[in-house]
Amino acid sequence: METEQKGHLHPITHTINEINAYFTERGFDTVDGPEIETEHYNFDALNIPKDHPARDMWDTFWVKPKKDGMLLRTHTSPVQVRYMEKHKPPLRIIVPGKTYRYEATDATHETQFYQVEGLVVEKGISLAHLKGTLEDFFIFFFGKGVKVRFRPSYFPFTEPSVEIDISCFRCGGEKGCSICKGTGWIEIMGAGMVHPKILDSVGINSNEWSGFAFGAGIDRLTILKYQIDDIRLFYNGDARLPIQF
Ligand SMILES: [Zn+2]
Repeated sequence: METEQKGHLHPITHTINEINAYFTERGFDTVDGPEIETEHYNFDALNIPKDHPARDMWDTFWVKPKKDGMLLRTHTSPVQVRYMEKHKPPLRIIVPGKTYRYEATDATHETQFYQVEGLVVEKGISLAHLKGTLEDFFIFFFGKGVKVRFRPSYFPFTEPSVEIDISCFRCGGEKGCSICKGTGWIEIMGAGMVHPKILDSVGINSNEWSGFAFGAGIDRLTILKYQIDDIRLFYNGDARLPIQF
């Protein structure tokens, strides 16, 4: 006799629910935006000019014909601009959603994946606020004892920009293991202070207001938390995956 099987939430859904619950408690609104975006919001409005080499950081699916400038959004960052155009600060939002990149698929890359964007614009916001916010979040998500480290990086829409690593929660950052590739640290997200040019371009006076933004891969957070070894398992429709969650 076959036993009846109950439906389960997908692990990505679990992660999105956890992120939403955590940030909602801290006064963030959850916002979404279009997945088919314009070149303007995906690139130009984020200080990534046409023909600038920085554009190569995002391999893009264009909607044909390319001259119309429509694309599948390569990140959730365009929603920052859309939101700031319509809302006055102070503001705090998170934007979980699907994103797309034109690239080869392997164990750590998919052409469609999920990102979460965070944006805070208030008076007197500094990098210290960004660090505190994310440290708290990582402890909530991965457990106590997680350490956070910032490394200088470059994104056109933040200044300064940082790459954020967390200490490896398997080996504790001491010895190095396969998860942290022997370094004791795991790359987890990009972030920075919102570029003053972007604030000014949406009518927010950058002399008065400042903000931070971060963007993280939800698939990556989920893979690390549950130690799943291949991102493709999330999208192949095999019900044996969600049943474990
Ligand atoms: Zn390790």
